[in-house]
Amino acid sequence: MARPSQARLDLAALRHNAAHARRLAPGAKLMAVIKANAYGHGSLTIARALAADADAFAVASLEEAVLLRDAGIEHPILLLEGVFEPRELDTAAALNLWLTVAGEEQLAWLEEARLPHPLQCWLKVDTGMHRLGVDVQAAETLYRRLGACRNSRDTPMLYTHLACADYRTDNATQRQLALFDTLCPGAPRSAANSAGLIAWPAAHYDWVRPGYMLYGNSPMLEEHANAAALKPVMTLASAVIALRDVAAGEAVGYGGTWVASRPSRIATVAIGYGDGYPRQAANGTPVLVGGQAASLAGRVSMDMLTVDVTGLNGIRHGSEAILWGEGLPLNTVARHAGGSGYELITRMPSRTPRIVLADTEAPPASR
Ligand SMILES: *Cc1c(COP(=O)(O)O)cnc(C)c1O
Repeated sequence: MARPSQARLDLAALRHNAAHARRLAPGAKLMAVIKANAYGHGSLTIARALAADADAFAVASLEEAVLLRDAGIEHPILLLEGVFEPRELDTAAALNLWLTVAGEEQLAWLEEARLPHPLQCWLKVDTGMHRLGVDVQAAETLYRRLGACRNSRDTPMLYTHLACADYRTDNATQRQLALFDTLCPGAPRSAANSAGLIAWPAAHYDWVRPGYMLYGNSPMLEEHANAAALKPVMTLASAVIALRDVAAGEAVGYGGTWVASRPSRIATVAIGYGDGYPRQAANGTPVLVGGQAASLAGRVSMDMLTVDVTGLNGIRHGSEAILWGEGLPLNTVARHAGGSGYELITRMPSRTPRIVLADTEAPPASR
């Protein structure tokens, strides 16, 4: 039998989440963010599954865009950080990508380039996150320069990124949006990531740019009604490969960090930090074994972890273990690991097979 650890992908859930995003922002076009290998899910699998639901895709680098174009994805694709050096502009033109212009230097490269045809450009403005984008003071001038640039097609888009949209009571978002609204009157615009889409209708504008929510996870720090309908796309699963009884007082795993407070039954599951499960997950982190709630007992190893299944029914060699996904939110596990769900899925290693579940709702394959 093959090693049982796998990341199962539910593409019907993915499309459900995209439809939910559209319902929340009915007036906006949808740019599905599939950078970083679609947050670890597999960018081709996700792009193909969203072909009918997304108006455009967004990635972080030319290499990520090349992969999509080579596979025949014809949607507009925005480079979220633009090009990193002038010669990338030729490839961007050859692939007909959309370009972020996030600084005067990138604008100068574009003005000086000799391209076979102009490209759709998105001027990124820094309205308060202070990570990427042109200064608010320079926005009008640079927007006009971009509009006049022979290598820029149609009306440039204006966009910004929200730093605190996941935290509803912080007025940083209102301040960012108020500032954004004063810039370049009449320019088509975009501001919302997943949290902006879910919690800030004023941030919807012409395009929304969700990533994390499409994969079925809430970006919000607190419960939010608009996130309740999301369905997890990835379920990380494996199986029990050993079972033993340990006496009260016995320790389990590296360093003996978990000590049985009563006679306990311990299940060893064939998955570890080498498969993307966080080593930082604390004792007590929830795990579903044989469909029942259990909890991590002992430090996570590279290829295995141990779970306290004392008192559960019918657990045997081969019983299924679910580490996150269906029935156990990724965000819950991330919290127990002191980290972020974004990071857990994004750094899922290639070692873990991605298994696409039978997709009964899939539209018939064309081409
Ligand atoms: C990553 C990213 C997004 C998507 O963010 P989520 O929180 O995953 O929805 C949107 N816009 C930009 C500019 C990004 O870098």
